[in-house]
Amino acid sequence: MKRSAPMEANSPGKLLPSIVTLYEMGILSRSRIVVIAMVGTLVVVFEGFGIALLLPLLDFIQENGDVEALKSKSSVWHTIVSAYALIGVPLSLAALCVTMFVLILLRQIMDYIFLLLRTRTRQDIGRRISSSLFRLLFESTAPHIQSMGVGSFTYLFATQTIAVTTLLNSFSKLWTLVLTFLVYAMVIVYSAPFISLLAFAVMGFAIASVSRYVRAAGTASRKLVAAGEAWTKFITSRYNGWRLIKVSDALDYEMESVGHHTDNIYRLSVGLARLRGRMELVVAPFMVFFILAGLYISVENFSVSISVITLFVVVVMRLVPVARGLAGLRQTVSTQRANLDRVMLALREAEAAREIDDGVKIFDGIFKKISLDKVTYRYPGGKIPALEGVTTDILAGRLTAIMGPSGAGKSTLIDLLPRLILPTSGNIYIDNEPIESFTLASLRRQIAFVPQDPLIFNGTVSENVRYLYRDAKQDKIENACKIAFADAFIRKLPEGYDTVLGEDGIGLSGGQRQRLALARAYLAQPSILILDEPTSALDYESEHEVQKALEILARKHGLTVVVIAHRLSTVRNADRLVVLVDGCLSESGSPKELSHSDSWFARMLSLDAGSHHESKADASQVSRQDAPK
Ligand code: ADP
Repeated sequence: MKRSAPMEANSPGKLLPSIVTLYEMGILSRSRIVVIAMVGTLVVVFEGFGIALLLPLLDFIQENGDVEALKSKSSVWHTIVSAYALIGVPLSLAALCVTMFVLILLRQIMDYIFLLLRTRTRQDIGRRISSSLFRLLFESTAPHIQSMGVGSFTYLFATQTIAVTTLLNSFSKLWTLVLTFLVYAMVIVYSAPFISLLAFAVMGFAIASVSRYVRAAGTASRKLVAAGEAWTKFITSRYNGWRLIKVSDALDYEMESVGHHTDNIYRLSVGLARLRGRMELVVAPFMVFFILAGLYISVENFSVSISVITLFVVVVMRLVPVARGLAGLRQTVSTQRANLDRVMLALREAEAAREIDDGVKIFDGIFKKISLDKVTYRYPGGKIPALEGVTTDILAGRLTAIMGPSGAGKSTLIDLLPRLILPTSGNIYIDNEPIESFTLASLRRQIAFVPQDPLIFNGTVSENVRYLYRDAKQDKIENACKIAFADAFIRKLPEGYDTVLGEDGIGLSGGQRQRLALARAYLAQPSILILDEPTSALDYESEHEVQKALEILARKHGLTVVVIAHRLSTVRNADRLVVLVDGCLSESGSPKELSHSDSWFARMLSLDAGSHHESKADASQVSRQDAPK
């Protein structure tokens, strides 16, 4: 993923379009928005009426319940009297108190519903964003996934999607805060216009005076987001390199980097808290001081009734947290915008990098061959092509070994077969059909891939083996393990097939993982099996067993097996060798054919014969200089 996040975050006016995009993507639904807005409005309406009723209540006490006198004082009393007459309840102090209590109770109930609704929506949005992002990322092209890196990937899911939900939650709060503000504003403007104007001027001034802090908080939080991402990248890469760090005694050096990252996060977080604290420090005392001063002036110079003063004080007390909430929301928004922008950028980029899947034919197996015709592939930004003009065949039901020095393009060629990448030029055919004419799903369903370090997840042996074929019965699982020469070692595990593997369970050796992955691949009943043979993970016995399994799969079960071969021992039993050097096809043919010619393979054999470790010779270690041109 391009590192344009901080720049994006700086561009203004992105908030609303981002929310609109979330809405268009179906992450935010219209009905949810409407229900939240309605319940939020009800909270405010009940609260507004509840508090506003304080004025008639105080007037009623002051006038000793003289309704006629009250009616002559204010037109509001006409409405109140008619309302009580309508419901058939005599107007009394008790009735007014009960009404106020009911309104406040209703407000609390609505507030409770509102809280649940907001929490549900927030969690729901979080889960929708995470799953949309996960799907989109895995539906995007291989170069796009690779360019992202494990640190950014982890940070995006572990931190940033959660931050986005906080931001969206702020919007529902914003709605009620603005409404509450308006309702209270109407109440006090109606009861005391002069002091109200003064109060609003003070509030506006208070909010404007913290703008500086809000902007500074925005900048600090963008830096904090970048620092968090850098830290996640750092720790994930160091976890992967733990062996190197221990063995090379590099801990002190690494601790310096840890100190650099953690100090940075500490400094930025404390700075952010300081800005937040300063806003709190300024807004509340500032407002209360000026409003009380306004009240003092009004009482001294104008005739203001005690009921108006009481109402005014109550409303102002309620308005202070509302104004503080509004200022705080501005800060939350500016804090979380960096995260929202980052998530939106990830969504947009993943969407733009979606894999092309316009094939219509269903691929149901290979019968003759896979043909590469002048295939060239250049990585995005790559100076020279990783593969250039490669023309060769991979025969169905045979064991084909891809060989060549490291960096020759073997993995690139393998990635072309399940269409993880598309040729920059040239074509690939399966049984004379262009590979793009098949749907991606049907093509990949027929291809099983066993990487060098296969994924073994937290679960039992059986669960791991049926990863690609969830409904497989136990006897099928065990049969697959027998074919992959995994059954014997599985039976020696503490709980056999029920032994828990992975992070919370026991670990397996490289060779055992490889054989388990082979069983998994076989169980999926593919037509094509691709294997990246590990260089170091296999001991002699495992190596022999994996080779044997591959031969059986090709010869007995008719699978088309393609293996990136690093060892001569794997290659000897292959039906066909394809040798790549510097991205070009150097030679192809059976091991027998190639061993008699002046080939890269023959040269490998002679180098190997010269060594005393025949079975351990590693073909990929022969440099490009050694290869015949
Ligand atoms: P091999 O599997 O034979 O070791 P690869 O197919 O991995 O070789 O790589 C072939 C060439 O492509 C190398 O020069 C390598 O540096 C380059 N390459 C591989 N992957 C990428 C990538 N993701 N981005 C850019 N260049 C790459």
